[in-house]
Amino acid sequence: MTALFDLSGRTALVTGSSRGIGSALARGLADAGATIVIHGRDAARAEATRLEMAHVYGEDRVFAVAFDVTDPEASAAGVAEAEAKAGPLGILVNNAGIQHRVPLFDLDPADWDRVIRTDLTSAFLVGREAARGMAERGAGKIINICSVQTDLARPSIGAYTAAKGGLRNLTRAMAAEWAGSGLQINGVAPGYIHTEMTQNLVDDPEFNAWILGRTPARRWGTVDDVAGPVVWLASGASDFVNGQTIFVDGGMTVVV
Ligand code: NAP
Repeated sequence: MTALFDLSGRTALVTGSSRGIGSALARGLADAGATIVIHGRDAARAEATRLEMAHVYGEDRVFAVAFDVTDPEASAAGVAEAEAKAGPLGILVNNAGIQHRVPLFDLDPADWDRVIRTDLTSAFLVGREAARGMAERGAGKIINICSVQTDLARPSIGAYTAAKGGLRNLTRAMAAEWAGSGLQINGVAPGYIHTEMTQNLVDDPEFNAWILGRTPARRWGTVDDVAGPVVWLASGASDFVNGQTIFVDGGMTVVV
């Protein structure tokens, strides 16, 4: 049974894995046997995370690249660099993302563009570059990290909500075009997860109480909660799952 989840001999690029959820996903995939390419915009931070992981998994199993996922040329060069260092990609996790909290009436169009490019366009740019090689080899797993905002809106995060909703449909579009070439493309939609990105919300007593009341599991998610479903979707155990988005939210999106 465990062979179904074994990722030995597979190479995974996890965007935005220099910290936060992405770094936990990279560790989860490494625990399952994969060779990992750590990624971020900040090369020094990516290298620091690579070093930490290389102590655990070995220098020959952890690599690092740095590029801006909103830049088409940099994304193409970054995927090529990842493959040159670590070997052909069998797994891509599109995880890099940002949040920007401003009501729609006050939202600067430049900030709207920045969020859409980082949280949605990046998955198209990096995903397409990785998928070209995967399609040639007839196999590959792409996992797009969505959010409960894929399904649910909330005041002040309109651009993020639009991007994450779009990411679910991009996941379907990728499956429509690439499933026939042996790729599986799915989404994982985490609920409220305690990370740097959400520390200010955890520290806000009113918001924290709202989360605990709104989540049937009565807690914030942890980064490790998200790793299990990602390992499953990266493995042979999910070979006939395609175009789906799995919510990992303690039940938040199934209750009112
Ligand atoms: P985080 O701690 O802020 O980390 C973001 C990562 O993305 C960093 O590695 C950062 O690299 C990278 N990144 C951001 N913009 C980039 C760009 N333009 N080019 C390259 N890398 C870029 O975020 P997180 O909380 O772990 O969130 C990770 C993902 O999970 C996001 O897609 C987020 O929307 C999603 N999510 C989070 C939660 C939550 O509760 N935290 C819930 C649902 C979904 P640098 O440090 O080098 O900039």
